[in-house]
Amino acid sequence: MMYASTRGLAPPAPFRAVLLEGLAPDGGLMIPDGYPQVDRAMLQRWRSLAYPQLACEVMRLYADDYPQGELARMTQNVYAAPQFSNEAVTPLTDLEPGLKLLHLAGGPTLAFKDLAMQLLGALFEFELATGPGTLNVVGATSGDTGSSAEYAMRGRPAIRVFMLSPYRRMSAFQQAQMYCLRDANIFNIAVDGTFDDCQDVVKEIASDVDFKRTHKMAAVNSINWARVAAQAVYYFRAYFAATKQDGDPVSFCVPSGNFGNVLAGWIARKMGLPIERLVVATNENDVLDEFFQTGRYRVRSREETVATSSPSMDISKASNLERFVFDIVERDCALVRDLWAGLQAHGEFDLTRTPHWRGAAGWGFGSGRSTHADRLATIRSVYQASGRIVDPHTADGIKVAREWAQPGVPMICLETAQAVKFSDTIVEAIGQAPHLTEPMQRMMAAPQRFERMPPDAAQIRRYIESRAGQ
Ligand SMILES: *Cc1c(COP(=O)(O)O)cnc(C)c1O
Repeated sequence: MMYASTRGLAPPAPFRAVLLEGLAPDGGLMIPDGYPQVDRAMLQRWRSLAYPQLACEVMRLYADDYPQGELARMTQNVYAAPQFSNEAVTPLTDLEPGLKLLHLAGGPTLAFKDLAMQLLGALFEFELATGPGTLNVVGATSGDTGSSAEYAMRGRPAIRVFMLSPYRRMSAFQQAQMYCLRDANIFNIAVDGTFDDCQDVVKEIASDVDFKRTHKMAAVNSINWARVAAQAVYYFRAYFAATKQDGDPVSFCVPSGNFGNVLAGWIARKMGLPIERLVVATNENDVLDEFFQTGRYRVRSREETVATSSPSMDISKASNLERFVFDIVERDCALVRDLWAGLQAHGEFDLTRTPHWRGAAGWGFGSGRSTHADRLATIRSVYQASGRIVDPHTADGIKVAREWAQPGVPMICLETAQAVKFSDTIVEAIGQAPHLTEPMQRMMAAPQRFERMPPDAAQIRRYIESRAGQ
């Protein structure tokens, strides 16, 4: 399996060569040269597999450049206790008639990002075990990504993590989760600014090719291909849990920001999984809802991007959308280049002006939007009906999933975080906070360790340089 850029101007490379990369050298995103097809016989075989084995089967289709047995070893280690204490790893439960919840937030940081990030940690370590040097992960987070990356890379001495986070702009739980870490290879940089400021600093540092090479810099953001591939696994697992036989239809509703999670669903469908509909749920930052309703992709300015109570979906642009657009324009790289040049120049493009637009329904997609008031009402209604407390992102998903329910087709809403991470909104919705376990209470009370810095790329770069491994 070889990977090429959506813009068509980067040399093809195998999985392990694209593993550490963020953007492709031509500014596009790396994508496999085809989606492996999973036929009925394979589906039938996969149906009875436990999560680690299934993860190995899916990953090895995309990552065929590992020595025999390595992926099996890694998936066995990663998708097990203590990282994932539930044996099913991603259990599926009934929420209300026709609507199920896929629990993806059972990992170390209580957000779905752990599922891919934990495997990424093992994949990164394998690269270092077989070659010299230290890997330096430099990233920016609004809360969940950074935490997930740190918990996946901690205790791996050949990897150092430099994570920029917006000082005092994350939930108290998210801050405690990141800043309580005392591992020598984890560096938290709390920036006086917003997530966008953090992102700008990382981009500036990453644009220096020399720095990147000297310090063996790696990206862990949601455009990382290995993360996307690892996420496809739970669409298969959920399908098997929700259906009696292969061929039965199911739909998924996915709380979305950068389009990483739902892209994995699209890929599972391209591989042959019988998914009826993929429904994209956004919050007030509705770039993606607008795109699916109108064919117009209009990125938002900083001023237009609002801080909401589902903060992990507060995005101004959906970084992974380029991979989806690449597929729907039938992999026409020249057209992708044109569209993104238009985006650069005018802040938008309109797919209805190309011969490829078939409408969201034509692609098997649906979309919807949820507001703060919707989140509160949804958290309340779920709590009253079932006693369960869902997190605000999942609530956005449930609100939109209900709008797209179809008789006879189970709708699976992805639970992307646990409510305890976003306590303030839960209190606002139901007048009580989610239960904190003993270890969580200890974490909240633990001393916090971070370096507070201004959003100054030169200064942060010097900080990283003096601590980065060679
Ligand atoms: C990251 C995140 C999302 C958005 O996922 P994308 O892959 O960016 O679409 C949704 N919910 C939670 C809790 C997240 O952490």
